Amino acid sequence: MSHPLYRKIVVKVGTNVISSSSGELDLRILSQLAGQIALLRERGTEVLLVSSGAVGAGRSIVELPEDLGPVAARQVLSSTGQIRLINTYAELFSKHGHRTAQILVTKSDFRDRLHYLNIRTCLSALLEQRIIPVINENDAVSVTGLMFTDNDELSGLIASMMHVDAHIILSHVDGLFDMTDSETNPRIIRTVDTSTKHFHQYIRPGKSEFGRGGMLTKCHIAQKLTRFGITVHIANGRTPGVLLDILDGRETGTRFIAQKPVYGRKRWIAHSEGLEKGAVVVNGGAEEALRSPERANSLLPVGIESVTGTFFKGDIIKICSEAGDAIGYGMAQYGSEKTRQLAGKKGEKPLIHYDYLYIVP
Ligand code: GLU
Repeated sequence: MSHPLYRKIVVKVGTNVISSSSGELDLRILSQLAGQIALLRERGTEVLLVSSGAVGAGRSIVELPEDLGPVAARQVLSSTGQIRLINTYAELFSKHGHRTAQILVTKSDFRDRLHYLNIRTCLSALLEQRIIPVINENDAVSVTGLMFTDNDELSGLIASMMHVDAHIILSHVDGLFDMTDSETNPRIIRTVDTSTKHFHQYIRPGKSEFGRGGMLTKCHIAQKLTRFGITVHIANGRTPGVLLDILDGRETGTRFIAQKPVYGRKRWIAHSEGLEKGAVVVNGGAEEALRSPERANSLLPVGIESVTGTFFKGDIIKICSEAGDAIGYGMAQYGSEKTRQLAGKKGEKPLIHYDYLYIVP
């Protein structure tokens, strides 16, 4: 038996992988996946599973009245479907002698450092106890503005939080395709690095029937994770043995090659896009200092031109250039009111210390 390629992984399973065309959970595929994950665990790889499919499963349980609004419909479907989804996993894993845990999270849990650390502690404890965590968005309470874009975003956050070696996105397509060669018989792209741009040209047209995630979001999340030292695979979850193939180093799907890693708090901050409570605009001098590759500079009030929003000590804020571009994200050392008073003043305490600062590459 070969040594598995990765020690700790996140496996994200899309609704389309585990649902039949009628929307029912596909027990054949689910049991194939559970069998592979159980085997990986036995071979020493820690696995965190992020699974979609609650809303899909709910559709096969509840028939909704036509006049029910979309938010309530999603709440009803997900809260009923999640039970079926998690029970199916628990049953399948138990056949292999493994225990399962259910973790449901919302986007707000990633906004607050304490919640973030609580989730991390919980997931670490489960892994330590050799229990397989099955994670999903808490769709019953996260609605509209507070929702993750999709479970690709959620699983990306978990991958980064848990410092995994690889994030494996199982979808119902084989990976990225080079559409430039031949539209009728496109070639699969085996590897992607940071130089790859304009992902839309590699994506086959056609929208998935169930679930929210699209291939373009997957690519952007994948490329972001590679910057934190995480390898990302996009592969077809319905292919028998796909996870074992990936962990054994056999070629399947598309692999995004990992770059230089970013550790600890900076990782959390790096994933804060869209979660910020406020923003500051900095002048050209401050922008240059922050972007300097040679020196570790904190953000000082002297370089701040304006402040938007209301934030408090410990909140994540966005740093913008005069032109309006996002330069980075950081954790504020004091609130927006004090920042407004200190903006432009010399010799004041940094608003964001370097250790709590992430500059967008
Ligand atoms: N959380 C949703 C579900 O379980 C899926 C979201 C997505 O498709 O990414 O149905």
